[in-house]
Amino acid sequence: MSKLRFKAVAAAANRKPVEVEKPKGKTSEYYGVNVFNRRAMSKYLSKETFKIMSKVIDKGEPINRGIAEHVAAGMRMWALENGATHYTHWFHPLTDGTAEKHDAFVEHDGQGGLIEEFSGKILAQQEPDASSFPSGGLRNTFEARGYSAWDPTSPAFIVEDTLCIPTIFISYTGESLDYKTPLLKSISSVGKASIDVCHYFPGSEDVTKVNSNLGWEQEYFLVDEDLFAARPDLMLTGRTLMSHESAKNQQLEDHYFGSIPQRVIKFMEELEYESYALGIPVKTRHNEVAPNQFELAPIYEECNLAVDHNLLIMSLMEKIARRHSFRILLHEKPFKGINGSGKHNNWSLTTDTGINLLSPGKDTEENLRFITFIVNILAAVHKNNGLLKASISSATNAHRLGANEAPPAIISVFLGSQVSDILDKFESSTVKDAIVVDDKKGLSLGVGQIPEILLDNTDRNRTSPFAFTGNRFEFRAVGSSANCASAMTALNASVAEQLRLFKAEVDALIKKGKAKEEALYEILKKYIKESRPIRFNGNGYSDEWKAEAAKRGLDCETSVPVIYDSYTSKQSIKTFAGILSEVELHARNEVKWETYTKKIQIESRVLGDLALNHIIPVSITYQSILLVNVAKLKDVFEDYKIKGAEQIRLIDKISSHVNAINAKVHEMVDARKKANNIENEREKAIEYHDVVAPYLDEIRYHIDKLELIVDNNMWPLPKYRELLFIR
Ligand code: ADP
Ligand code: MG
Repeated sequence: MSKLRFKAVAAAANRKPVEVEKPKGKTSEYYGVNVFNRRAMSKYLSKETFKIMSKVIDKGEPINRGIAEHVAAGMRMWALENGATHYTHWFHPLTDGTAEKHDAFVEHDGQGGLIEEFSGKILAQQEPDASSFPSGGLRNTFEARGYSAWDPTSPAFIVEDTLCIPTIFISYTGESLDYKTPLLKSISSVGKASIDVCHYFPGSEDVTKVNSNLGWEQEYFLVDEDLFAARPDLMLTGRTLMSHESAKNQQLEDHYFGSIPQRVIKFMEELEYESYALGIPVKTRHNEVAPNQFELAPIYEECNLAVDHNLLIMSLMEKIARRHSFRILLHEKPFKGINGSGKHNNWSLTTDTGINLLSPGKDTEENLRFITFIVNILAAVHKNNGLLKASISSATNAHRLGANEAPPAIISVFLGSQVSDILDKFESSTVKDAIVVDDKKGLSLGVGQIPEILLDNTDRNRTSPFAFTGNRFEFRAVGSSANCASAMTALNASVAEQLRLFKAEVDALIKKGKAKEEALYEILKKYIKESRPIRFNGNGYSDEWKAEAAKRGLDCETSVPVIYDSYTSKQSIKTFAGILSEVELHARNEVKWETYTKKIQIESRVLGDLALNHIIPVSITYQSILLVNVAKLKDVFEDYKIKGAEQIRLIDKISSHVNAINAKVHEMVDARKKANNIENEREKAIEYHDVVAPYLDEIRYHIDKLELIVDNNMWPLPKYRELLFIR
C-alpha cells in the first residue's frame, strides 16, 4: 500500500476550516492601515512636504534629495509606530514574483548602543548585491552593480515587520533590469499621447493627465498541503506532469459560482482582511469552472499601482494559503483535461477631468472621441498583434492558450456587434454625408448615436483574447502566474505609438488646410479599413478561425521561443522607442529564452525521475503479483491460460508501457544533453520546445495508462479525484 498517498488523503479529508479573526470596525475603517498613503502622509509629513508629494504622485513631478529626506523621516516614524523593525526596497526582477532584501533600521549611536535610522538617501536609492538576477547579459558579474530607486507613485507598505518601498531596478549603466521601469515609461507615454489627442475634442480640451487603468481578475487553484507534498511534480514545477483524468471533473459545471467550500471561504476572508489593510480594494470572489479553482478581483486602479497590488496579493495568497493548510497553484495549467487559470487584464484610459475615453458619449462630439480612441486601439493591436502575443507568452501559459478553454494563440479584437456596426457605417460613409453642418453646433458628425444600452449589452465572447466590454478592453490572454506589467507595457506602448502617429497624420492634413473634423474623419476612416483584419467577433476556438487568421496576415506562430522574436521586430523597436531600447529588448529576450529552457528542463527531469523511481517500480511490483497469481493458477488448473486470461493480458500491457516509458525517458535525456550543448539561448530554447517538450506528453500517456491498470492501493501519487475534490 502506498503509505504517503493514503496518509495524505486521510489528513486532507479530516481537515477543519481555520477560524480567522476579523479586524475591528468596518472595512472602510481599517482599509489601508498598513500603507503610507495620503492619510498617513498628511499626518506624518509637514504641510509643505505633503503638498510636494501630492504633486509628485498626481502630476509625476520629479523629487529632490531634500524632499526625500523629509519623507524618509516621516515614513520612518510611521513605520516604527506600526511595529516595523526592518525596511526593504521591493522590486520586480525579470524572474517571476518580487525581490526583497531586508535591513534592520538600526545604526550605532556612537555610545555603544543602537538607534533607529532611515535616511532620505536610503529611501531614494539602494545598491542590492543582486548579481544573481537575470540581466540577459546587460551586466557582467565583475561589475554586477544594480540599483534600486524609489517609485514614489506607489505607496510604501508594511508586511509583518518590514517596511516595503516599491522601487525600480536598473543596471549600473542605466538599463532596466525589471518590469516596473518600462511599465512606468509606457504609462507616461500613453498618457502624454492621449492628452494630445483629447485636445482635438471640445469637452476634453482641458485635460492635463490621462491615466491607464488596470483591473485584473486572478484565477487560482487550491490543493491541500499534504496532497501537494505527495506530488513532487506539483511541488517542483507547479503542475501535474501525469495523472489520468478524474471520472468526474467539470462536466456538470456544478463548481462554477457554486457555494464556496468552508475551508476556502476562511482562506478568502483572511486574504481579504490582509488585502484591505494593505490598501488593495478586493471586491469579487467566486468559484471558477474547474473543481478547486477560484477567482479574486479587485476594483480597478491606476495601472502601476494595480500591478504592484497584483504581485503583492500573489505573495499574500501563498502565505495565507499555508495558514489554512492549502497550497496555492498559480500555474496556468496545473491539471490536464480541465480549465487552466488566466488573469484577465481589464484596461482603460481615463482623464483627470473624469472622462473614460473608452466610454461612448452623450453627443456626437463625445462619440467621435470615443470612436477615435477605439479605432486607434484597433490599429495599435493590429500592428502589434505579434508583440502583444509575445508579451503574454511563457512556457506555462502555452498550455492554456489554444486549448479550447482560453483564447487561441492568435490575437484578435472582439468589438461586439454594436460598435462593429458603427465602425462599418463610418467606413462606408463619405465625408459629406457624415459631417453635417449644424447652425448651432457647427460641424457635427452624422455617424449616428451610440445607443445608451451599449454598456450592458456587450455580448461576452469568451473566446476572444482581447475584447471590448462596454467601457474597457479586456486582455484575456494574460496568464495567471504572469506579472501583468509585461502585457500592460506592451499594450500601453503600442497605443501610445499609434496615437502619436494619428496626431501627426491629422495635424499634417490640418496644415494642408483641411478642417479639423474632416482631417480626423479621413484618417480614422483609413485606420478602420487598415485594421479590419484584427476584428473578429466569431468563435476563436474554431479551426476555421486559425485558417482565416493566417489568411488575414495575423501572427499565428505557436512556438513560444519563436514568438519572442516579435519583441525585436522593426515595428516593436518603434513601438518601444523611449521605453525599452533595442539593446534592452534583445537582453530581455535572452532572459525569456533562458527561462523557457529551464522550465522545460526542470519538467523533463522531474518527469524522468518520477517515471523511473516511482511509476516503473510500482508497476513491476504489481506485475509480479499478477505473475505469481498466474503461476499458481498453473499449479491448479490445466486451462490456466483461460482462467488467467485477464491477468496475462495485464502483464503484457504493463510490460509494454514500462518498456515504452523506459525507452522514452532515455531518449529524452539524450535530447536534453544535445540541447544543453547549444550555446545560443534562442536556439537552445527552440530545441527544448521542438525536441524535448514533446517527450513530456509521450511519457505521460503511458504513465496515465498504467494508473488505470495498477492496483489503486499501490499507486503512489495522489490521483486527480483526490487533488481536485478534497477541500
Ligand atoms: P467580469 O464580469 O468580466 O468577470 P467584472 O465586471 O467583475 O468582470 O470586472 C472585472 C474587472 O474589471 C474588475 O477589476 C473591475 O474593477 C474592472 N473594471 C471595470 N471597469 C473598468 C474600467 N473602466 N477600466 C478598467 N477596469 C475596469
Ligand atoms: Mg472579466
